[in-house]
Amino acid sequence: MIRVQKVRLYPNQTMKKVLDDLCDYRRYCWNKGLALWNDMYDSYLVLNDEKLKPTMNKVRNEMTVDKEDWQYLLSSRCLYQAIEDLGKAWDNFFNKSMKDWGKPKFKSKKDARQGFKTDRAKIVDGKLRLDKPYGTKDWYDIKFKGAKSLDGELKVISIYCENGKYWASLPFEVEIDKKDKTGKKTAVDVNVGHFDYTDGQINTLPNHLNKLYERINFYQRQLARKRIVNGKNATKSNNYVKTRAKLQRDYRKVANIQYDIVHKFTTKLVNDYDKIVIEDLDVKKMQMTHVASKGLQRSLFGLFRKVLTYKVNWYGKELIIADRYYPSTQRCSNCGNVKTGEDKVGLYGNQKHKTKHNEYICYECGFEVDRDKNAVKNLLDLIC
Ligand SMILES: [Zn+2]
Repeated sequence: MIRVQKVRLYPNQTMKKVLDDLCDYRRYCWNKGLALWNDMYDSYLVLNDEKLKPTMNKVRNEMTVDKEDWQYLLSSRCLYQAIEDLGKAWDNFFNKSMKDWGKPKFKSKKDARQGFKTDRAKIVDGKLRLDKPYGTKDWYDIKFKGAKSLDGELKVISIYCENGKYWASLPFEVEIDKKDKTGKKTAVDVNVGHFDYTDGQINTLPNHLNKLYERINFYQRQLARKRIVNGKNATKSNNYVKTRAKLQRDYRKVANIQYDIVHKFTTKLVNDYDKIVIEDLDVKKMQMTHVASKGLQRSLFGLFRKVLTYKVNWYGKELIIADRYYPSTQRCSNCGNVKTGEDKVGLYGNQKHKTKHNEYICYECGFEVDRDKNAVKNLLDLIC
C-alpha cells in the first residue's frame, strides 16, 4: 500500500537558498499568470470573442515566450506546475456551487506558508533530489526524517516552508494490518443531519455545525447582494474582502468538523463489520433541492463515500453500493412490497395516508416502522 506522508526536510545552506528561491519563483509565476489570465479574461468579455478566452496552455505559452534570463536558472517545472494549478483553480471557481470559494487570488510574500510543486524530483539513496536547472553547479540531495521513502521517480510533490522549517509530501510504502473479521454486516442510510445504520444513528449536524451553516448562508447572501448592487467593483471593496475572509474561515471550520465526523464513523464501520452496504449517494445528492446548505451536505456525502471506500480497501473489508434504482425508501423490509404512485412516502410523509415524515406503514402486511430503519433493513437485504 502506498501512502503519502508529510516529512520534514533538512536542506543545507545552499539548498535552503534553492528552496526559498523556488518558493519565490512559484509565487512570481502564479501572480504573473493570474494577472495575465485576468487580462485575457477581461478582453474576452469586452470583445466577446471566444478565441480570446484564457486557457492554461495560452497563459503558459505566453509566459514561456516572455521568460527573462534569470528564469532559466530556476526549474521550468515550477512555472509549469504553477500555471497548471492556476488553471485548476479557475475551473473550480466556475464549477463549484459555492461561488465565493476558490477564486484564484494573488499570493503575498507575507503569507506564513510559501511553497512550490515539482514533478521532476527523485528519491536517490534515501534523499530527495530536485530537478537541477541546466548550468547549475552547486546542487545537493536533501535529507529528510521519517520512514524510508520509495526510491525512484515521484509524481507531483509539493514542498513548502513555514516558520523557517521545510516540509515535503512524499510517497511511502506502508504495511497495513488487515482488520479482524467479525462476521457482521451492516447498512448505512444517509440522510441530511443523520446517518442511520444497524447499530443506531450518527448525528452529522451537531449544533455548532448547524450554526456555521447558517452563518455561511448569511455571508453568501451578503456577498451576493454586494455583487448585485456594486457590480464588478464589488470584489474590490474592503468590506467585501473582509466578509469573504470570514466566509472562507467558516468553510474551513466546517470542513474540519465534517472530516472528523466522517473519520470516526467510517473507522467504527470497518472495525465492527465485514460487509457494508450504502446507497448510490449521487442520487441522494440530487434530491436535496429543498435542503439548506446543500452544497455542504453534498460534500459531506461525497466525503463519506470516498473515505469509506479507501478504508474498506485498506483493511480488507467489503463495500456494496446499492443500484441507483433500488427502492430502499419505498420497499417494505418485512414483506418486500414496494409502494408506488400515491402510496409513496416522500420527504414529508404521505399525504394520502396522512403519515409523518419518519413513518413507514405497509398496507400489505401492516408492518409499522421508522422510515430510516426501514431503509437500513432494505439495504441490508442486498447482502446474502
Ligand atoms: Zn409489508
